Amino acid sequence: MLAVGTDVGVAARQLVPSGVLVGEGPDRHAEAVERTRQLIANPDVSAIFEAAFAFDRVLIRADILERLPGGAWRLSEVKSSTRVKPEHLHDLSIQAYVIMGCGITLEQMQLVHVDTTYVRGENGIDWRAYFKRADVTGEVRALLPSVPDRVSNMHAVLVLPAAPEIRPSGHCFSPFECEFWSRCTVDKPRDWIFYLPHLKPAVFAELDAQGIESMREVPSDFPLTAGQQRVVEAVLSGREYVSHQLHEALAQLGPLPPTSTLKRFHRRYRCTEGPAPTSASRSSGRSTTLTGPAA
Ligand code: SF4
Repeated sequence: MLAVGTDVGVAARQLVPSGVLVGEGPDRHAEAVERTRQLIANPDVSAIFEAAFAFDRVLIRADILERLPGGAWRLSEVKSSTRVKPEHLHDLSIQAYVIMGCGITLEQMQLVHVDTTYVRGENGIDWRAYFKRADVTGEVRALLPSVPDRVSNMHAVLVLPAAPEIRPSGHCFSPFECEFWSRCTVDKPRDWIFYLPHLKPAVFAELDAQGIESMREVPSDFPLTAGQQRVVEAVLSGREYVSHQLHEALAQLGPLPPTSTLKRFHRRYRCTEGPAPTSASRSSGRSTTLTGPAA
């Protein structure tokens, strides 16, 4: 229904119809901060979308900032997720750290996510029902004391003369696929051991520690699963593997199955050399930017 996190963020603005958008883009952050300051000072503004703040050399944009009675505010982060995830809380904790550092009182923190129980009716989408607000104030507050050290560590990395030597592995996909994956793996062989199916992180680390990158270099007595061994053998022989079960599986479909079905079965029952596809890059919905060292 909605392609990326950005679209969800825009749709979620309908939860607060009276909100005012800070339209200045990321390349005009200083102007966005000033515009946000003006909107906060105006008591007639009940909510701000994309409010901009800068503190401790961290720039953030808040999806929704709602004015509460008594002068405090509610911070809401919008995600296309269907539940609250740990990374959402870390995201919110950094935003809260920056906003509070700017002297704003945050009374509540929310994660606005998709409500999986929602069913679209005859008359279009009811956005109030489509989204679910999860109060994560306690969880975010618990993370706040750790934020200064995390920010400091990130700034320390930013001033390094070169990128740190971090070897790409499974961590590059947690909590989502890193956008630098292609760059970091450009020198890896086509039969990189990372592409062995269902390879446990510990097993990958063991092979990696031995300097083994190519499947061809895996010792013949190294304990692999049957599926992994099959892939290695296909790489070594240069011949694709076709399961003897393929004929039987296709026979269940009767004569002339659709091409799409054939392709699906072909992928399932064959293996040959080549990198496994990775998941498509997800929209991170990034709302925080670290700036370089202070001048
Ligand atoms: S892909 Fe990303 S997470 Fe993985 S090593 Fe490269 S920069 Fe680090």
